[in-house]
Amino acid sequence: MDQNRLRIAIQKSGRLSSDCQLMLKGCGVKLNLREQRLIAHAENMPIDLLRVRDDDIPGLVMDGVVDLGIVGENVLEEAVMERQATGEAAEYSVLKRLDFGGCRLSLAVSEEFDYQGPKSLEGKRIATSYPWLLKRYMDGQGVKFKSVMLNGSVEVAPRASLADAICDLVSTGATLEANGLEETDVIFRSKAVLIQSASTLATTKQKIIDKLLPRIQGLQQARE
Ligand code: ATP
Ligand code: ZN
Repeated sequence: MDQNRLRIAIQKSGRLSSDCQLMLKGCGVKLNLREQRLIAHAENMPIDLLRVRDDDIPGLVMDGVVDLGIVGENVLEEAVMERQATGEAAEYSVLKRLDFGGCRLSLAVSEEFDYQGPKSLEGKRIATSYPWLLKRYMDGQGVKFKSVMLNGSVEVAPRASLADAICDLVSTGATLEANGLEETDVIFRSKAVLIQSASTLATTKQKIIDKLLPRIQGLQQARE
């Protein structure tokens, strides 16, 4: 990769990808995303986009493999806690909290569960893709539990008798309802954020960032 081009990691396909692409387009970055390539070069600015799974974005930024990344705070915070637990460096800076990708990480139980607060989950199994965020919340509540790690289909875990409760992302609540689940505790509120690697950037790259940031600000203000 060309060291003089600013590298930005974005989600390849999923809930954040179209908003990310629209934001970059709104900033005047001309992209050719027709092909299913890992790297997309901007046509009119020295910017390369790395299109990856969202889960890979915090690590790519914190390891300095890319200069910037756009990722949900939920995924970012989980990655930071996991790294801290294993003694790995977890440095980055948040350049901007964005106005898309809003969701919450919540606990939910089956409608038949007699829920009287987090204490009702003492010793129970909770299915989640966010074991660290969940543990932090439950530690704060003084409740011991067993986590069941699932990277997908979390919402079917109670029905499949894999877990007694779930801790999953919610936006409208329709998925929970469709699965006979009731949201009980919001444990983390999230939006997409633009983050920057902690390593010092070449002046040329910093200049591009200085150009992009006010444009992002302008886009968000126009939508307010
Ligand atoms: P990938 O294939 O990149 O790993 P994914 O399936 O993990 O994708 P998506 O479902 O596309 O991820 O969600 C990406 C991010 O979008 C979430 O981490 C979260 O920050 C945000 N988001 C917003 N609303 C929701 C929602 N209702 N459910 C899940 N994620 C949401
Ligand atoms: Zn993911």
